[in-house]
Amino acid sequence: MSILLKGGTVVSAKGRRQVDVRIIDEKIVEMGTNLKAEGSIVEDVSGCFLLPGFIDAHTHLELNNGKGSLGTADDFYTGSKAAVAKGTTTVIDMATPSKGSSLKDCLNAWNHLANDNSSCDYTYHMSIIEWNPSIKAEINEIIDAGITSFKMYMAYDNLRTTDAELYEAMREIRKYQGMLGVHCENGDMVNEMIAKFIEERKLSPHYHPLTRPDSVEAEAVERYLMIAELADLPVNIVHLSTKASLEAVERARARGQTVYVETCPQYLVLDDHLYDGPDFEGAKYVCSPPLRSIDDQNALWAGVMDGQINTISTDHCSFNFEGQKTIGKHDFSKIPNGMPGVEPRPELIYTYGVTTGKISLERMIGLLSEDIAKQFSLYPQKGVIQSGSDADIVVWDPETIGVLSATTQLQKADYTPYEGMQTKGSARSVYLRGQKVAEQGQVIQEKQGAFIYRTIKNKS
Ligand SMILES: [Zn+2]
Repeated sequence: MSILLKGGTVVSAKGRRQVDVRIIDEKIVEMGTNLKAEGSIVEDVSGCFLLPGFIDAHTHLELNNGKGSLGTADDFYTGSKAAVAKGTTTVIDMATPSKGSSLKDCLNAWNHLANDNSSCDYTYHMSIIEWNPSIKAEINEIIDAGITSFKMYMAYDNLRTTDAELYEAMREIRKYQGMLGVHCENGDMVNEMIAKFIEERKLSPHYHPLTRPDSVEAEAVERYLMIAELADLPVNIVHLSTKASLEAVERARARGQTVYVETCPQYLVLDDHLYDGPDFEGAKYVCSPPLRSIDDQNALWAGVMDGQINTISTDHCSFNFEGQKTIGKHDFSKIPNGMPGVEPRPELIYTYGVTTGKISLERMIGLLSEDIAKQFSLYPQKGVIQSGSDADIVVWDPETIGVLSATTQLQKADYTPYEGMQTKGSARSVYLRGQKVAEQGQVIQEKQGAFIYRTIKNKS
């Protein structure tokens, strides 16, 4: 099938130009001015931007830790639909094994969740939650299976490894030029502070961020980057949330290290006063790292503007307020950590970044698509509108206005952290590998997503 998108403005991280785009089957085949229909179905997109499909490099679309009530509100089916409806055509989900299981088993389990079920394209970061000879032997196999990136944790007792294990994993990943991202928080200090507040009977959501102050993150970032320097590995920091952490990144870069930094919309548009809301409302915002001060928020925006921060993804991990967040009604430490967010990210960043003049639309494309594709071996298949690339195209109408609300969202949680926030600009239609899969925020063709096999250039 051939489609001609006519009259739009194609935007990349570097610039914009008014050209028509011809799609045949799954690929972009031709770009130019005044292209003739020549048998193509023509969609008039004048007045709209044509943006490369957005990539969310940090989702937990479906997690079920076996305890029933703590499974995420979304599963891969609902989460991927919510993503693609608003323009996110690819997710990199966190594949997380349980203790004692192989990485291969985990990969199979995640394929089972996503295959024939996902409405956007997908791949995974493979989480390494323990380190032993068999896991070590699997690193190369997992990369050969198309998973070129890994995730490790410095907090959460059921997920974290020791510094020595982190270092050994880095050395192994380095052999194959894989990419590592780490959740940076000092897990020992988090445990200490939770215990202290519980002992003092300080149990409301107000105390959640106080167990994870900025120094808890910044110390872990600093240590992680020092260990990465010893291992000689370029590394990624996921969901960086504080000014102090950004300063640690700057020190590492000044030493000559390559460091990639991800932040999330919640750290850019929400702040820690929300933990003091009435009627246990603060529980809605319990995530780790927690929401931060306005001062941190300003530092993150400055980092987004000047390039200190490379990417914006969501850490989508949806729990319902009723019945899930409320488990921690009498003890904040029992509130499941995480918030929904895969759906509104493009509208949030366009509204609060582009229309306010903080960043250009080109910069937004880098942060939400092109630079993510480059970092995670998806480029140029993904992340750019050019001949030969997958026809993942968001037809972006800059003039629409909307209001984010739990009553209209496709994500399955019973609330949104962004309730009532106004938006400007939205995806009018979304193409996934040449098929129109969403229109006016609704999915019109579901389960069209495919696994994207990634390869590392120059892998030895
Ligand atoms: Zn996460």
